[in-house]
Amino acid sequence: MAGCNRPVILHFIFQPEFARVNRPRKRSSNVSSIQQLPSHLVNQIAAGEVIERPASVVKELVENSIDAGAGHIEVEVDNGGMKLIRVRDDGAGMIRDDLPLALARHATSKIRSLDDLEAIASMGFRGEALPSIASVSRMTIRSRIAGDERGWSLEARSEQSPAPASQVDQGTTVEVRDLFYNVPARKKFLRTERTEFNHIESLFKSLALGNPQVAFRLSHNRKSIYQLAPGQSDEAERQRLARLCGKEFASSLTPVDESRDGLQLHGWVALPTFSRSQADMQYFFVNRRLVRDKVITHAVRQAYQDVLFHGRHPAYVLCLSLDPRMVDVNVHPQKREVRFRNSRQVHDFLYRSLHRALAEVEPDSQRHSPAFALNTGSMAAADSTLSQQPMEFAPVSTGGIGQVSRPAWRPSVADQAAAYGQLLEQPPTAPAEASVAPPLGFALAQLKGIYILAENDAGLVLVDMHAAHERIVYERLKITNASAGIVSQPLLVPLTLNVSQQEADEVESELQTLAGLGLKLERLSHEQIRVREVPALLQRADIEKLVRDVISDLMEFGRSERVEQWANEILATMACHGSVRAHRQLSLEEMNSLLRDIESTERSGQCNHGRPTWKQLSLEQLDRLFLRGQ
Ligand code: ADP
Ligand code: MG
Repeated sequence: MAGCNRPVILHFIFQPEFARVNRPRKRSSNVSSIQQLPSHLVNQIAAGEVIERPASVVKELVENSIDAGAGHIEVEVDNGGMKLIRVRDDGAGMIRDDLPLALARHATSKIRSLDDLEAIASMGFRGEALPSIASVSRMTIRSRIAGDERGWSLEARSEQSPAPASQVDQGTTVEVRDLFYNVPARKKFLRTERTEFNHIESLFKSLALGNPQVAFRLSHNRKSIYQLAPGQSDEAERQRLARLCGKEFASSLTPVDESRDGLQLHGWVALPTFSRSQADMQYFFVNRRLVRDKVITHAVRQAYQDVLFHGRHPAYVLCLSLDPRMVDVNVHPQKREVRFRNSRQVHDFLYRSLHRALAEVEPDSQRHSPAFALNTGSMAAADSTLSQQPMEFAPVSTGGIGQVSRPAWRPSVADQAAAYGQLLEQPPTAPAEASVAPPLGFALAQLKGIYILAENDAGLVLVDMHAAHERIVYERLKITNASAGIVSQPLLVPLTLNVSQQEADEVESELQTLAGLGLKLERLSHEQIRVREVPALLQRADIEKLVRDVISDLMEFGRSERVEQWANEILATMACHGSVRAHRQLSLEEMNSLLRDIESTERSGQCNHGRPTWKQLSLEQLDRLFLRGQ
């Protein structure tokens, strides 16, 4: 934050003549009905946009501290922040004359020109937060810069000048008391102390996750809630993650570190086995700012789609850094949304990076996972519908697996599987060299026809044999399918669709892309298109839905993975039916060859539905079970 270390606050003077430009010319009376709003009221109106509740105050104050280059930030709140919010930092501080300016509207040290606005590197830039907060609370600022022997303090709205303040450390402390005391309408919308504090806590979490280099503290009613040491090593980050999001989450994370063409992605994604029923553990930062963005959400979902059970949500903490000129942050009053200059490039980069990170999850990395615990709820990740699901399968004719919701097509799985028959009957791979112990070890026995028990260096390995085989077959089908390319096939009766003019335009200009996806389309008229050919594998799919989804993807993201996605769904169904059923006796040789296949298959740590395929039970864990050495 080099530019922010020495604040020079500019004051954009409001020019009253603008307000009068549209005054009606002919009026019976000479008294103007248009009034210049008093600045106090202007600030309260602005506060309506940015200050929704105590958590919004915390956000603005902490962001100011970050912009001031603080290394330590302390947040104290009382009564869910309704009574008191105090944010103390050790940042650059402000000189005496800056204090009143900091409270003036449209006064900021962070930008000076339109050029600056187009390349914002700071969290703030509107110069609105402090005056807005001051207009709806009792606010005091205390500050001291390095080298000044004393600090200064100013009570907002007191109409007094800054007073010398003794015993002030370098940095700034902003105290906000009695939020909304003078805006009863707003105050009525505040919830209980608990709820307001929950909002503050979740906001604090996201600020702390996005700024690992800063030490943070949070206390509520004088009770310390979080105390987070700074640090930029992976280990320090993991510790902070464990503290803020729970140990289970932290230990199921796999790192992501990619950079390409000026885009850099750093962070952590949870293994699919740690999926959530809600999208509550998703932190995405763009240049350290937490955002919710359609392009990002879409790219992440795509990357996970193959390994996540339907209806489950991935968990991640990811930071994207890029040249501030490539992203517009001035599109949302609370700056929660951004606009990328090149959203297709961003989408592509995210999708590829995450897809790779997830594919690289070797069975080995699950050894760090606590997911194997006989007595904890860690398997809660497996959806309840799943655990109720027997290992046998729904009849082929339903075109789905059990209660899994799938698109409304009904592929004849048997037909299609027949084509891959040969593949499924591949001879088992040769046993691995005995000299190097393979990661999953060697089979000992089969349990109830469902699990394989194997011994490796670490101890015992348990394999869900159907799930593991399903994943292997699925990955093989995908490879075969990909190498054959997309084969398209004409529809017996071409399908005519009514679309909007923009959609028809999109189709017309993307004919090549569509053909690459196996979709042969043509424009019939202004608002009509015709589908002539579709991918052979999707002959029985709901073509209309597929085509409409593909077009809307193309319009929004410039690419579409729908065809691949749908084809993968069919392959997954085929894989399920082509896999070893539970209750089949396997010979030791067959079991060993399955173990070797798991090791060599991409993403074999989890089955197609995000269920784990195998678990390690270490000797230590076994010892603990039997209280050995205690
Ligand atoms: P903005 O952050 O958009 O510039 P604010 O109203 O939040 O607007 O703050 C106004 C100005 O006050 C900032 O530009 C900065 O110069 C100064 N300021 C606010 N908080 C701090 C702080 N904690 N440390 C140093 N300067 C600060
Ligand atoms: Mg600010």
